[in-house]
Amino acid sequence: MQNNKEWQAAYSVIKQLEHAGFEAVIVGGAVRDALLDRPAHDVDVATNALPEEVKSVFQRTVDIGIQHGTVLVIVPAGPVEVTTYRTDGEYTDHRRPEKVQFVRSLQDDLQRRDFTMNAIAMRHDGSFVDFYGGRQDIELRVIRAVGDAQKRFAEDALRMLRAIRFSAQLDFTITEDTLTAIQNRAADIAFIASERIKAELDKLWLGTTVFKGLQKLEESGLAVYLPGDFQAEHWQNFRTEDKQLGWAYFALLQGANWREVLRSYRLSNKEMAFVKSVLTAFEALKSGWTNSHYFTYTEQELEAALYFAKLRQLDACLPNQPIHTLQDKLPIRQKQEVVVNGADLLKWSGKKGGPWVKEALENMLEAILHNELENDQQQIRNWLDHNYFHEA
Ligand code: ATP
Ligand code: MG
Repeated sequence: MQNNKEWQAAYSVIKQLEHAGFEAVIVGGAVRDALLDRPAHDVDVATNALPEEVKSVFQRTVDIGIQHGTVLVIVPAGPVEVTTYRTDGEYTDHRRPEKVQFVRSLQDDLQRRDFTMNAIAMRHDGSFVDFYGGRQDIELRVIRAVGDAQKRFAEDALRMLRAIRFSAQLDFTITEDTLTAIQNRAADIAFIASERIKAELDKLWLGTTVFKGLQKLEESGLAVYLPGDFQAEHWQNFRTEDKQLGWAYFALLQGANWREVLRSYRLSNKEMAFVKSVLTAFEALKSGWTNSHYFTYTEQELEAALYFAKLRQLDACLPNQPIHTLQDKLPIRQKQEVVVNGADLLKWSGKKGGPWVKEALENMLEAILHNELENDQQQIRNWLDHNYFHEA
């Protein structure tokens, strides 16, 4: 695990900072994930060097969050986020500190972190700095706030949702104190921007036990203050590696006003389109899919709808072959493959354009998809002659 590129890059940054006389460690998610034997995506470095000092040590740096003390350092093994030890100033809005204060002590930096498992630092010799019992809590598989939970959630309400998200992601329990504090502060979640809430839910859907996460969301009282319906019981066997599927399933459980609910989480247009397709395909499955559905929806959308039908134990007409096999058998895969277009129709019929053209094209496509009509100019012309051109 610690031999991968991200870790190598971080080690090399630490060595150079130490060589220049500073202290530097790996902190946060990467240390936690290494102790859990999980792959880490970003390996973050913390240091007592001030941002300007960090910049003076390395040739290539990018200011990505200099006001929070973060500089991106680029070494041959890759980019590394380096953040100066800091404490957070006053929190006045339950979201962000007014201003951060750079400090020279690692302990002060670790103290501002949310949970004990996220407040462990690792030196490049492999030794740990663990003031808050983070390693023991990882052993116990518990999520525990650093310091006074109630105070920590009052400072930054997002931490409450992070606790729930981590519980689903790692299958950890939230300690009693920490859970009680969430129950007491739950209403504060309303102060948090939808984008940040969405980012946590994105990760929750990918968790190993989404069901438990949703149970905690209900138990903690947070669910009440979030838009939409989070009834845990529907999520018992849910598991996915695609966050969009989480949103689509969540949408399915919202009933008629799913659009409004999802919009409040600011899903992208692409995500909304995916959800809409899956929900429409799911509805259609109740009476069974035809070639039109295999043509209209992507394999991913149909697989999602099929998965939901199983989760919901829907009394549906399920396909008798794999979706991709049925899609491979379609006479055409794209509209552009049809050898006749609207201009042909107007030319052959000698009629004026109008709504009939669209209708004729649609019916023609249906006939082709259902193997009632061959995708061949002459055959299509005969078919149109019969069905459209010679009408009274
Ligand atoms: P992930 O694997 O999802 O990235 P992570 O623990 O690395 O999890 P990040 O959001 O990347 O989470 O944050 C990195 C570290 O910064 C955390 O491990 C934690 O120490 C600290 N941190 C992040 N968000 C907060 C917060 N809201 N309050 C306090 N500390 C935080
Ligand atoms: Mg991270």
